[in-house]
Amino acid sequence: MSDCLFCKIVAKEVPADIVLETGRALAFRDINPQAPTHVLVVPRAHHENAAALAAADDGLADDLLKACHTVAVQEGVAESGYRIVFNTGEGAGQTVFHVHAHVLGGRGLAWPPG
Ligand code: AMP
Ligand code: ZN
Repeated sequence: MSDCLFCKIVAKEVPADIVLETGRALAFRDINPQAPTHVLVVPRAHHENAAALAAADDGLADDLLKACHTVAVQEGVAESGYRIVFNTGEGAGQTVFHVHAHVLGGRGLAWPPG
């Protein structure tokens, strides 16, 4: 999608601090981190949100989840604990409509989330 920020990051048209690249996913640091580790994991293919990703039904959601765990291991938070968040829809705080998993860790994470 030509007007999608995360498609532009995937295409390297917009710079980002990339921490992982796989065949179908890309991970980069959030520009406004909410924790010591705050990485966004996106599919290279454009899907609007987690519901669309799930409906893609081609193993992409599986790949994305595996990429999230790889990021957590790389970031050194896999043992201490981390959270994977998909804000889905404006009411849940989604602001970029290219599905992305937030991988958060490196500090205590309150439950329930706000
Ligand atoms: P959400 O609100 O769940 O849609 O998450 C969007 C996230 O994208 C926010 O946490 C933003 O800080 C982050 N973000 C926006 N622009 C950029 C960018 N250019 N590079 C990295 N992260 C970004
Ligand atoms: Zn996109």
